[in-house]
Amino acid sequence: MLAHEIRARVARGEVSPREVAQAYLERVRRLDPGLGAFLSLNGRLLEEAEALDPSLPLAGLLVAVKDNIATQGLPTTAGSRLLEGFLPPYEATAVARLKALGALVLGKTNLDEFGMGSSTEHSVFFPTKNPFDPSRVPGGSSGGSAAAVAADLAPLALGSDTGGSVRQPAAFCGVYGLKPTYGRVSRYGLLAYASSLDQIGPLARSVRDLALLLDAVAGPDPRDATSLDQPPRFGEALEAPLRPLRLGVVREGLSGNSRGVERALEEALGVFQGLGFAVREVSWPALLQALAAYYILAPAEASANLARYDGTLYGYRAEGEELWRMVEATRARLGLEVKRRILVGTFVLSSGYYEAYYGRAQAFRRRLKAEARALFQEVDLLLLPTTPHPAFPLGSRPDPLAMYREDLYTVGASLAGLPALSFPAGFEEGLPLGLQLLAPWGEDEGLLRAALAFEEATDRAFLKAPLGEAL
Ligand code: GLN
Repeated sequence: MLAHEIRARVARGEVSPREVAQAYLERVRRLDPGLGAFLSLNGRLLEEAEALDPSLPLAGLLVAVKDNIATQGLPTTAGSRLLEGFLPPYEATAVARLKALGALVLGKTNLDEFGMGSSTEHSVFFPTKNPFDPSRVPGGSSGGSAAAVAADLAPLALGSDTGGSVRQPAAFCGVYGLKPTYGRVSRYGLLAYASSLDQIGPLARSVRDLALLLDAVAGPDPRDATSLDQPPRFGEALEAPLRPLRLGVVREGLSGNSRGVERALEEALGVFQGLGFAVREVSWPALLQALAAYYILAPAEASANLARYDGTLYGYRAEGEELWRMVEATRARLGLEVKRRILVGTFVLSSGYYEAYYGRAQAFRRRLKAEARALFQEVDLLLLPTTPHPAFPLGSRPDPLAMYREDLYTVGASLAGLPALSFPAGFEEGLPLGLQLLAPWGEDEGLLRAALAFEEATDRAFLKAPLGEAL
């Protein structure tokens, strides 16, 4: 059942929050052992559901929360051995806001360690499987959240997106995922990877459900100085009549796409044209270099952010009396990919190399943003694939650069700070495909309105429950 349908049924008194919680817990216990979407479940869920005031606006809604988002009293590991056993003493703003409205945390979902990866295989615990084909990855780093929503183990999920981690798993798992404009959702309580890029984003099985989550979590927060003073108006925006818009298809060197992706793109253009959109091809030359800049800037910020995991503050602390030996032994527990990023990050920031790498990547980021601003003078929305192909097999990207290349189409919106939505748009050999819509800075509401039109025009044809009947 979709989240807004559950909410309506709870509001009419047809089902209680406890019954909803019970049904989802049973489903998770039955299906998650084969998927590995969850790292932990909320052990107090049924009590919390029992005690809930059913007249609260989100009563009966359960949210799966990526395990790099702090949940007070519930384990928060970031998929890392360094935070095994860590119980945050505070709640992320996004989670606190959901709870205040009556939603409950169902459990914490698997991810690539600290959000670094595109397959969820870099989780130190276990890889999550794609619910459409267990031999394939669900994408990453929010792979657990995407798999949980796709398999209807949760009606809603929160993920985080630094360079595509909400959108790419959403595409691979056939669900909707939004990276909001940088600053629309508070980062308070989101374990930092690359702070100038990190955003919490919703995953769901319909645009209306995304809006439901966003109206609850977005908006200014005094605890995050980079949060925007822009209150969310998603529900309202979806009620507004559809404006015929100008849609630009980014064709930038998009040669390496699978045939299914090409077909989905053509078909989507037809649907948007049918809705009255004026469609044209546009050029965003900087997009192709965005990947190189991202893999300089994100590791640079990560190397600074991850310095805090030294055994003195949170989570795991190695044995040893002498401080530096303890720090060394503690940090040795970080996974290989995380260590690689820290090394790359400290290198590009080091004296003598800073200008050649970090400085140039920053200058490039400004150019990419300027190009995007110019494009949005000509068109209202941009359309491009979320990924060049559907989900790849587990274990098929042992080369780190091959894994990085998976993020080709997602890092542009991240570096430019723009809102970007991945929506289900087709299948290739039984695997879901996603396309991406980008909107100008701060126009997240309009983005969702356009996506809703596509969802309704295609009669939700691209939404399938991979594991039999959904709840
Ligand atoms: N795959 C990208 C990376 O590894 C993006 C991850 C993310 O958005 N957290 O950095």
